[in-house]
Amino acid sequence: MNITILGAGAMGSLFGGLLAESGQQVTLLDINDAHLAAIQRDGLLLATDHGERRIRGLNACRPEQASGHPELLLVFTKTLHTDSALRSVAGHIAGHTRVLTLQNGLGNAEALSRHVAPQQVLIGMTNWPADLLGPGQVHSHGQGMVRVLALDEAERQASAEVAAVLDAAGLNCAVDPEVWTSIWKKVAFNAALNSLCAATGCTVGQLGAAPEGVALARAIVMEVVAVAGSQGIVLDAQRCLDSVAFAMDNHRGHKPSMLQDVLAGRPTEIGAINGQVVARAREAGVAVPHTETLLGLLRLIEQRAAV
Ligand code: NAD
Repeated sequence: MNITILGAGAMGSLFGGLLAESGQQVTLLDINDAHLAAIQRDGLLLATDHGERRIRGLNACRPEQASGHPELLLVFTKTLHTDSALRSVAGHIAGHTRVLTLQNGLGNAEALSRHVAPQQVLIGMTNWPADLLGPGQVHSHGQGMVRVLALDEAERQASAEVAAVLDAAGLNCAVDPEVWTSIWKKVAFNAALNSLCAATGCTVGQLGAAPEGVALARAIVMEVVAVAGSQGIVLDAQRCLDSVAFAMDNHRGHKPSMLQDVLAGRPTEIGAINGQVVARAREAGVAVPHTETLLGLLRLIEQRAAV
């Protein structure tokens, strides 16, 4: 399959590298010139549980230099850059191009549908972890999975084809008719841990070591579960709480990406996570005081960094 990755940071590089390694024709599009130059010069240095290797033969360029029309465009910018990134590749997308988002948060289906026909859009969720170590160097560890589904139920064939290609690259991918449940479950996790760590500077383990951290995380998870319920998505609250507790016990040193963004003075994905939950809660008349407070705090932190 001819695949373009739009946003080739940590996740885009991991997926692009594995897809290229499995024999697909991959183009990485990004605006990070140092990263692009390193890949053009030396290939992508990819480290996973299967070892460290250099993936060569990847096309890597800026979005405005993209040529041709891929069969699959995988969007992996941070959510706040989706619109500008998709605008910059409008000429690269044809009627046959499937556009897949595996970004965190809510509102991604709507964002893609502003640029292509809903029949071309696939949504999904992934819990593979990835870090960009430096220009041209990406690292991932452990096991993850990908769940995908075409937005339009009639496009079942597209869901199956895309899932098969990602699965063949070792990404453990399946079509998931309940993909919205998977997406909301991850939103509950991120709304609690990412925002609390980002606002306090705590690692996930430090949050879990304080009773207040555990209680706040629990309160946010339960608010997201209630909002999901108002949208017809039934989340298993105990399973959501268990995955937060598991992270607090097992990923103690982890700094969620939202905390990393705050530390680097960058804007965060709070809008796509807590922001989208609060917007949906308001429409449905569900009270989400903890989620809303964290949204406000992160907005203040972002504003402080901007002035
Ligand atoms: P990242 O910041 O490492 O990568 C995003 C890339 O997009 C950057 O390289 C940036 O230069 C590029 N970009 C920004 N604007 C662009 C534009 N206009 N055109 C092209 N490229 C542009 O972020 P990430 O960690 O790879 O996360 C990507 C998405 O995946 C986010 O929604 C994140 O929440 C989600 N996610 C991340 C992880 C993880 O472990 N990193 C896991 C699951 C999901």
